[in-house]
Amino acid sequence: KETTIAIIGAGIAGLSCATRLKALGFQVQLYEKSLGVSGRMSTRNNDHWSGDHGAQYFTARDPLFINQVKEWINAEVAAIWNPRLKVFKANQWQDSTATENRYVGIPAMNSPGKHLAKALPIEFNQTIDRVAYAQNKWQLHSLESGDIHQQFDWLVVALPAPQALALTKSIDKSIEKFTIDANMQGCWTVMASFTDNLNLPFDAAFINNESISWISRNNSKPKRIGLETWVIHCNPTWSQEWIELDKDEAAKRILDCATKLGLDCRTAKISIHRWRYASGHTNPIPVFRLHEDLKLGFCGDWLNGGRVEGAWLSGYQLACQIEKVQK
Ligand code: FAD
Repeated sequence: KETTIAIIGAGIAGLSCATRLKALGFQVQLYEKSLGVSGRMSTRNNDHWSGDHGAQYFTARDPLFINQVKEWINAEVAAIWNPRLKVFKANQWQDSTATENRYVGIPAMNSPGKHLAKALPIEFNQTIDRVAYAQNKWQLHSLESGDIHQQFDWLVVALPAPQALALTKSIDKSIEKFTIDANMQGCWTVMASFTDNLNLPFDAAFINNESISWISRNNSKPKRIGLETWVIHCNPTWSQEWIELDKDEAAKRILDCATKLGLDCRTAKISIHRWRYASGHTNPIPVFRLHEDLKLGFCGDWLNGGRVEGAWLSGYQLACQIEKVQK
């Protein structure tokens, strides 16, 4: 009989873990609270514009992830992005000297995740709010459907640190320290779409010492269509300090700062998003967490340096370790 594994969260970590486990012969089942995959590698779509409002791009350094990115490029769900990149520092604009390849999903940031999801069983609109381990089986409960009928041999939690803590603190007594160490912080994001092109002399910029930390012209990424749309991210410290701000007030403050930086959004259509858990990670880096006795694993960016590559590798390595233990 096949070993069954439930995976909670269909972000890139959960998807990567599920893909690897399936390849190793396990029977996997993903549960995702939203209606689509990819979590923070996300895109907001509208009739006239679209914007990647989570991860902006990803880099690839580990050979395993480099291979995965090659596969995505061959499948035409990812491509290199070569923005004209500036840095704003000490009130001055400079050209960025960074040379590392930056990759994006095409036609949207969630495309690599959607590609992985095609081969995986996923139940959407399932917010898992309770889990229990009894008689060597995991039982799940969801907000929307109540008790999940199927029981599982293993459980993988592929959620941001605070959500992983809320779900498992009564079972995994040591998880709290890890999640506190990860210190995940929020991010305020504004998307501004324009009917006319702005013709700014850059496509993206890192901003230092302002509430805004990053701006980018979404349409400069390959295969984007629709109106010129700029994505604005605030830095983690500012975002966390003002995370409870009313959305209109947050937008006003962010757009004041954007105007100061030369991105005048007065004619733009504005959309704002509050990320409660955007970034943060434990130090030192455990890559993943596994309780062999409980058959309980954790993966996600916060256990492996933050960012897309770390999240993907965390899921992949957890899957490999589960296979070793199970043998
Ligand atoms: P997530 O993507 O958060 O996936 C978790 C999934 O679990 C989600 O789909 C969520 O809906 C689901 N979920 C949550 N609770 C439940 C529940 N109770 N039951 C079921 N499902 C649940 N990284 C980079 O590499 N480069 C960047 O430029 C970059 N910029 C970023 C900018 C922003 C604003 C943000 C927010 C993130 C950025 N990141 C960037 C980080 C990157 O997006 C993450 O590292 C990566 O996507 C995390 O993947 P994950 O699978 O660990 O978590």
